[in-house]
Amino acid sequence: MNVSIGCNAHRFDLPHYRGVLSGNETSYHWVIASFSNPSVAEFVTALNREESYKGDLIERAFEVHDLAVKEFRKQNLWKLPEAFVAERRNEGATKESREAKKEGDAQGAGSLLDLKRAIAKKILKKCILCERRCRVDRTVKKGTCGVGLKARIASEFVHLGEEKEIVPSYTVFFSGCNFRCVYCQNWDIAMYPDSGEIIDHQALAKRIDRNFKSGVRNVNFVGGNPDPDLYDVLETISLLKTNVPVVWNSNMYASIETMKLLDGIADLYLADFRYGNDECAKKFSNVSNYFEVVSRNFIEADRQASVIIRHLVLPEHIYCCTEPIMKWVAENMPDAYFNLMFQYRPEFRAGEFPEIARRLTYSEINEANSLAKRYQIQVMG
Ligand code: SF4
Repeated sequence: MNVSIGCNAHRFDLPHYRGVLSGNETSYHWVIASFSNPSVAEFVTALNREESYKGDLIERAFEVHDLAVKEFRKQNLWKLPEAFVAERRNEGATKESREAKKEGDAQGAGSLLDLKRAIAKKILKKCILCERRCRVDRTVKKGTCGVGLKARIASEFVHLGEEKEIVPSYTVFFSGCNFRCVYCQNWDIAMYPDSGEIIDHQALAKRIDRNFKSGVRNVNFVGGNPDPDLYDVLETISLLKTNVPVVWNSNMYASIETMKLLDGIADLYLADFRYGNDECAKKFSNVSNYFEVVSRNFIEADRQASVIIRHLVLPEHIYCCTEPIMKWVAENMPDAYFNLMFQYRPEFRAGEFPEIARRLTYSEINEANSLAKRYQIQVMG
């Protein structure tokens, strides 16, 4: 299946994602579920058995993880045919992972995907999945996002209203969010983390597989925001039986640890770039150090996978937010595909802030379009 290409086709690129859709490449998660080495298998077992370890177990596990990801990238394994990878998965990629399976250690199969699951599970005990770094033990407490030990799904359906490159997309909306946007466009989901159904990994994986076989192009994890739900997503992905591309639809305030764990999971980042400065981010979303965190994560996402940047233009924020974002993109990710979004509506508590208590004017839309031309941004057609 081919995807249509937007304007400026000579520059536009979503290489890996397009490769998976055309059948020339394999989804990262499909490959890393078969990728292992002795250190990876050893740390999966250690983490799952909560073994004591001389030194910091998580720190050491990340070192092993990072080396394994480096090796995975060096070997370009996702260029192998899907069927060949599937065979490796079924057989167990290494002697170590086969032995771990034989031992009956259900959690300890020993692949790189298993290591990611084990690390994410451990992080829940002192949560740093996003840059709020609450460090709460989510087995007993909730952090700012309000998401507990188990993710809740507010809704899921075949989405036809996303960017044309990704629809139809099987979209999973998680409840809760680590942002507190006063104009939240999805506030009924994001601001009520206890709404929705508690996730059932097996059942969700089956629904994703079924829909992929019926023709959706990907599974799209969103919210709210999916970063607090990383562990549940990894559990679900480990149960998938199809080579379905994974779209990570995030506000990009993830911690660097989460970004590392997403390396080898996300085939496409569908990612928000909301603010051009920290003051507006603090005022409207109550987050600190926004620009440094988000720009760091965009560079990382661009290194890992295909990226579509989404920017929702806010009234009266063309020159403090839209322009600095475009300038940064022009300097750092000039070939990125950019969705310049004009559908802002004053939702949730936006009425308390006069400057954003209205829709955009035609002149603001024209100004944003002119800036995109000036900075030669690849605006999606
Ligand atoms: S995901 Fe972020 S906001 Fe939620 S508990 Fe973890 S660090 Fe805190």
